Amino acid sequence: MRLDNAMYQYDFYKTKTLCPRCAGELNISQGRDGPNALLNWTEGEKSPQPLPGQNDLDLEKYSLPSSFDLGSPICKSCGYHCNFLHGILENGIWSRTTFICDAVSATQEVNGFRMCSDCFEAWEFPEAMQFSECPNCKLMTKLAI
Ligand SMILES: [Zn+2]
Ligand SMILES: [Zn+2]
Repeated sequence: MRLDNAMYQYDFYKTKTLCPRCAGELNISQGRDGPNALLNWTEGEKSPQPLPGQNDLDLEKYSLPSSFDLGSPICKSCGYHCNFLHGILENGIWSRTTFICDAVSATQEVNGFRMCSDCFEAWEFPEAMQFSECPNCKLMTKLAI
């Protein structure tokens, strides 16, 4: 009897997107929208990178869907769980990662502060970063441009 393990498998994802809370590096996560063959996908690379034991595998035959859920990578610096990340393919290559959640808007205030439109909390955060979790209501906010 041959067990079909595909149901229980996933792929590994390494994004270049940084933590929305502290700009730290995110760790490798596991998602189930791809081939689910324990492949090691890295943002910017067309094919998966071989893992130990995969040298015989024809990695070029695998591809990702045009948009896929990365699972929930964790920030190496602050431990934040990024639950809303989706990889986007352009010309067959994973070239962008976006937050796909319905982030509430935040407005830019003076001195690098932003204000949550949901609870009106204001907090300091680098202006260059669009997304930031509201420290009061914990919603993901997106800076209105
Ligand atoms: Zn972080
Ligand atoms: Zn808030």
